[in-house]
Amino acid sequence: MDRNESAPAIVIRSERRGERDRVLTLLSPVWGIRCITVYGAQKSCRAVRASLYTEGVFHIYDNRERHQASLVDVDVITIHENALSGIASSFAATLMCEIVIDQKGTEAPAFYELLTGCLDILEDDNHKRVVTQFIIRALDIAGLSSDYEVCPVCGRPYAPDEVLGFNDRLASPCCHTCASMSVDLILPPNARRYVRDSLGVALERAMEYSVSDLMATRLMRYAIRLYRLSCPSSLRSAVALMELDGLA
Ligand SMILES: [Zn+2]
Repeated sequence: MDRNESAPAIVIRSERRGERDRVLTLLSPVWGIRCITVYGAQKSCRAVRASLYTEGVFHIYDNRERHQASLVDVDVITIHENALSGIASSFAATLMCEIVIDQKGTEAPAFYELLTGCLDILEDDNHKRVVTQFIIRALDIAGLSSDYEVCPVCGRPYAPDEVLGFNDRLASPCCHTCASMSVDLILPPNARRYVRDSLGVALERAMEYSVSDLMATRLMRYAIRLYRLSCPSSLRSAVALMELDGLA
């Protein structure tokens, strides 16, 4: 049976389909990840507009027989225009959405809160810290985080000045003794303290931690590499972002 449905959601991808239509990928705490069609989006000025990163209550019509849902209307909360205001913030926003899509709609309420929270504060100037916070929190939501206190391989608490390595069998940061020789991913003591402490507080509080630009650059590179080792995926936008920040 066909029916109308409404739920909060955010547009995480927007693609042309044919001459006239667009397909939006939504992340919703209720629906998870859902693709909907906006008929006439390219041509008709009467078509409902929902640009990339638009957050609001989406009203859709679900045609069960054709397995197709279409956009009827949207009550916009915010369009997150700051996310598209610069090149770095645009790449950062794309990367975060790519990670959400890579997680396939699991833990949707937590990812919705994390993504909308990060897009609310994202700017060119803070994009490295926002991306770092997004990734370490995303890994935590996915159940792939480490506590950065105790080596998960041998069970030994880390020494205060210890440099962590990475164990590829557990896909986790670990003490230097348990580190795999094949993966060169190290986390110095001050960076480990930042990751451990910021994971324990709200995003707004974590963004207040003072971090030098060099440290922010290293943390973002670490977070991106950590995500790729933990969840093998290509993350195309990560390459663009790292090139922009001179890291690739
Ligand atoms: Zn160990």
